[in-house]
This record gives sequence, structure tokens and C-alpha cells, in this order.
Amino acid sequence: MILPKSNRLTETQLAEVNAIVAEFGCSLQPIIGAVRTIYAIVGDERDELMINRLEGLDYIERIDRIQSPFKLMDRRSDLASHRIRIGGVTLGEELLVIAGQCTIDPKNPNYFYETAAAMKEAGAQVIRGGVWKPRTNPYSFQGDTKSLDILMEAHRRTGLPVDAEVMDERQLADALAAGVHMLQVGARNALNYSLLSAIGRAVAQRPGVVVLLKRSLHMGPLSEFISAAEYIASFGNPNVILCPRGTSPAPDGYRNHPDECITPLLKEKTWAPVVVDPSHSVGKAVYVPACALAAVAYGADGLCIEAHVSPSHGIGDDPKQALTPAVLKETIRQARALWQLRRPVLK
Ligand code: PEP
Ligand code: MN
Repeated sequence: MILPKSNRLTETQLAEVNAIVAEFGCSLQPIIGAVRTIYAIVGDERDELMINRLEGLDYIERIDRIQSPFKLMDRRSDLASHRIRIGGVTLGEELLVIAGQCTIDPKNPNYFYETAAAMKEAGAQVIRGGVWKPRTNPYSFQGDTKSLDILMEAHRRTGLPVDAEVMDERQLADALAAGVHMLQVGARNALNYSLLSAIGRAVAQRPGVVVLLKRSLHMGPLSEFISAAEYIASFGNPNVILCPRGTSPAPDGYRNHPDECITPLLKEKTWAPVVVDPSHSVGKAVYVPACALAAVAYGADGLCIEAHVSPSHGIGDDPKQALTPAVLKETIRQARALWQLRRPVLK
């Protein structure tokens, strides 16, 4: 990793550095942080001669050789001071709440507009809404591209950024063209490396876009989760948030095995913010507030919660796991109070 003395290399400096690394069969990948740009060396960066040549340049502060499988997302990385911003919130400085329907019903857009307004009123800063859905059963409602317009209309009406899951490159292109602010990688795709790379490549062109990466249902070692984030960030946009959402198998009664307790373990390894999804973790509205508060107690930087103005009229997961706006509002109030209480000990 190359750290320049200034906030970024000039064109001439970049050309010189590019020429040096190319001599050794490597290339450069700029990683654009909010203030500073650093440059990853792609290839076999262990050649001492190359490192010595780079270290000799008077505009280079230092070359870091992090012996970690995730050079960018590692806590010791130079990106550790990078802060992700969305919905007026700087992650780590305030509890981020993403809330909204599991699935947008294209036949009943008003439910989504009402939900979006209610989410804003309850204190959410990002509106979520499933446009395309990964469904276990091929005959279940799979989502509808028409819902993208509904999602963006909810953004216009509330002024809040919106989040939607994308499952393939077509959806990715459509979502970005429409202006979706946060792209969700679902649990089923967290191990889909070609999709992670495609998302990384696409968001590298849009530095403001944030990716919410769910934990796979079957991820074991935490390094697998962080490496999935590294895939996305390695193309140049480091705005990746980790989202534990429960793993499989589940104890009887819960949809998944709640995994908010991994939050402090993740934070020991990575600087990436952690936003927990209590809704898919437990899968039943009645248990969601407790799981949300547990996540905050463990040090989560945010929550992603499914909610609906009228859960019984929802589709997808909403009838079972969506909170009503009143319950969401009280959960957010308690979560923010707990976050303030925990902040001094977790910082
Ligand atoms: C969702 O957020 O509605 C969803 C499908 O989540 P996950 O990928 O975590 O199952
Ligand atoms: Mn859902």
C-alpha cells in the first residue's frame, strides 16, 4: 500500500509510480477515501527492489506491507480513519437506522410511500425496500423492476437515501442508473465473488454509493466475511458496511441463529462499520426489538430493520417480521439511548 505525503498523487507522480510498479509486473489501484487517496499495489508486491525504488521517491510517505488477507479492511490498514457517510450520518458518530419494507408491492405503491414517511417520522435515516427478491420458492413473488420507480419516488418524497438488494449485473446497472444510494448484497450472494467484484467495479465509479454486505447464512470464520468486503473495496470504493443477519441452522423458534454477538469480534479485526439486521436474525416481529438492543449493546454502529405501515398487508417477509411504525419508533428511541450509554466504553 502506497501512502503519499499529500492527500493524493499528482498526474505526474502517478505516472512515475505506475511506471515503476509496471516494471515489476504490478499495477496500481487507487482507493479513494473521503480525504485521502491511497494506492494498493496489485500483483506480487514483495519485490524489495520495487519497494526501495518507491520509498526513494520524495513525495511518498511510506509503503505499508500489511500481512493480512484483507489489506484494505484490516483495522491496521491506512483506511482505518475512513468514515462512511449516508443519510446525513457519519457511521461511528451516531447510530444509523435503515428501515422499511422487506419487499415493495408494485400493485400497492401507496403502502410503500406511507411506510417510507412513517420510517422518517420514526427516526430512520435510510429507507429500505426490496425491488428484486431472492426467494426460496421459484413460484413466490420474485420482485419487479417497476418497484425501482416506487423506491425512487419514496426517496423524492422523503428526501432520504434508499437501499435495495441487487442479485445480478443487470439489477446492479438498473439500480445505479436510477440513483439508489445504498446497494445491499444479500446473505445468499455474500459468497458470490463475481457479483462482489461486479459491484466493487461499479461503485468505484460512484464514490458516494455505500454497500451493505449481509453475512452469508453459512459463513464460518469472520475472515470470510471481511474478505467479501475486501472484494468490493479492492476496486476503489471503500464504503462497505458489514451486516450480520443471523446464520443457519436456527434454534427452534427463530428464523436464523442470531449473530449480533460477533460485532465486537469484527471490530477487533476490521475498521468497517457494523450494522446489524435483527429482522432476519430472529424472523418474528415480537423478538426483533430485543435483538436490535442486544446488537447495540454489543457495539453495533447501526440497525437494518424491516417495518411496514400495515404488516399484514405486506408481502415477502413483512407479514411475519415487519415492525409497525409505533414499535419501530420506540425501538429506535431505546436503541439510541443505549448507544449513548455504551459509547464511552465501546469507543
Ligand atoms: C432482505 O433484506 O430482505 C433479505 C432478503 O435479507 P437476507 O439477504 O439477509 O436474507
Ligand atoms: Mn426480508
